[in-house]
Amino acid sequence: MTVAVEKSKEMVLKAGSRMACAGLVTGTWGNISARVPGENLYVITPSGISCDRLSKSDLVIVESGGRVIEGERKPSTELKLHLAIYNAREDVTAIMHTHSTFASAMAVAGQTLPPILEDLAQLVGGKVPVTRYARAGTPNLAAAVLEVLGQSNAVLLANHGVVGMGRNLEEAFQVCMVVEKAAQVYAWASLLGKVNEIPKEEALLLRDLYITSYGQSKNSQPARS
Ligand code: 13P
Ligand code: ZN
Repeated sequence: MTVAVEKSKEMVLKAGSRMACAGLVTGTWGNISARVPGENLYVITPSGISCDRLSKSDLVIVESGGRVIEGERKPSTELKLHLAIYNAREDVTAIMHTHSTFASAMAVAGQTLPPILEDLAQLVGGKVPVTRYARAGTPNLAAAVLEVLGQSNAVLLANHGVVGMGRNLEEAFQVCMVVEKAAQVYAWASLLGKVNEIPKEEALLLRDLYITSYGQSKNSQPARS
């Protein structure tokens, strides 16, 4: 296998440890994948093994149609979901699926998570939509996600959990963390009696600013009022 595949494997292993460490999953549920740069290949975690206990040889390499190219393990049961997202979104190169608690509560309530916090708006690009109910691991779940995905970087899976994505694994992890935090804040704000959303245009602007100038990129300018 190529250097790019080996590098992608290392990043998936690191993301698995972080996902488990952050408490975004319980037991063996949850899964992670990455698109291998420059190749029509994907690295995905195996089914039914905790993501913090994996070694390189546990990971599975598949092509875009789902055919296994390398690996002894059975790939994640959500392989079809991951591939459907990669197929629909050129910009996505990494996907993390979690079962985090507060986001799952929103998914149980069938409640879209509105853009209520600036980090959420920046990373996700607006509201986090919720799917109709579809059984885990089925093509129907992949279809349900594509129905609501649009340009969002996260989707709540009804009665199930979250799928987060990004331009790399670090970003997909941050998306899952921020969605979980925002779901928790939403629950607390609801108990306080009022949820003020960031207006749609402002949320889009925050997203735009994040993509074009947030962080230490060459083009970033000092903030102006
Ligand atoms: P895998 O263990 O097969 O990756 O899947 C667990 C899960 O979260 C299914 O939705
Ligand atoms: Zn799941």
